[in-house]
Amino acid sequence: MTENTYDDQNIFARILRHELKADVIFENDHVLVFRDKFPQARVHLLAIPKGRYRSFDDFSAHAGQEEIVSFFQAIGDSARQAGLTCGGYRLVSNCGKNAGQEVPHFHMHILGGEALGPIISQLH
Ligand code: AMP
Repeated sequence: MTENTYDDQNIFARILRHELKADVIFENDHVLVFRDKFPQARVHLLAIPKGRYRSFDDFSAHAGQEEIVSFFQAIGDSARQAGLTCGGYRLVSNCGKNAGQEVPHFHMHILGGEALGPIISQLH
């Protein structure tokens, strides 16, 4: 498998096929939002497109407008539904190896429910 091939066995692909369970909080035709299994904040959600996109780079280059709009609307809706808008929240997407992306299916982390501190505490 090359870096440009979507891995059908990645964890999020398996969640989308219902082979693995997830704590889903939002779903529509294009998007699934569920709780991160190893939360890094009091509230830690993951938003994924249902399409087979490896990363933000792949998604932004190849997804259709409806998928892209639906994805960002789902993030906003989920954050509101989880009560995050009052205190604020952080969106993070790790893209590729320099960012430490572990699961090769595009996802956005939605983090909140507490003060999160600076996004980068130490540059080098
Ligand atoms: P990343 O490092 O940006 O690829 O993030 C992958 C995220 O997936 C991490 O925050 C993990 O805690 C999370 N994760 C891994 N396995 C599962 C799972 N089965 N269900 C929910 N979240 C998961």
